[in-house]
Amino acid sequence: MTDLAQSIRAIPDYPKPGIIFRDITTLLGDARAFRRAVDTLLLPFVGTKVDKVAGIEARGFILGGAAAHQLSAGFVPIRKKGKLPHATVSIAYSLEYGVDEMEMHEDAVQKGERVILVDDLIATGGTAEAATKLLQSLGADVVAAVFVVDLPDLGGRKKIEALGVPVHTLVAFDGH
Ligand code: AMP
Repeated sequence: MTDLAQSIRAIPDYPKPGIIFRDITTLLGDARAFRRAVDTLLLPFVGTKVDKVAGIEARGFILGGAAAHQLSAGFVPIRKKGKLPHATVSIAYSLEYGVDEMEMHEDAVQKGERVILVDDLIATGGTAEAATKLLQSLGADVVAAVFVVDLPDLGGRKKIEALGVPVHTLVAFDGH
């Protein structure tokens, strides 16, 4: 997957010193790389039944929308607190400094529906762990969590696998 890795731009010291921000806008802007990323993310699930794709705000919406369309599945947005108009369920999760909350509509998935969770990147796994728990609290069968980028040094994969959910990623970068 060297060419996919090359289509992701690295921005050193953003949003703060010591962090290398993995900017996927360059991948999204490259038609071939965008298609290849979505195709490869979904390869393990071709021919399996997927009812919904859940995307985490905001970059997970772009990849998740494309993935849902490709799988002929529905799309479910998981959003920051206060953005969704109908009745929601919410979960608090830890950030590096303090806590935040994410929400989804309480009727967005039905019990037993097979759901794939999508985001651009997994770092510590805190965000995807909260999203998985939210989906599971509504009775969803989260069949996988998929990410274009993994930062394996931060150990996020294990957090998701501990919830019984396999993780599929395309590109790994060392460090933060
Ligand atoms: P985490 O909860 O630590 O797994 O962080 C994952 C979330 O933060 C994802 O929604 C990513 O988009 C964002 N994120 C964390 N670290 C980076 C990074 N180095 N580059 C780009 N996005 C990041």
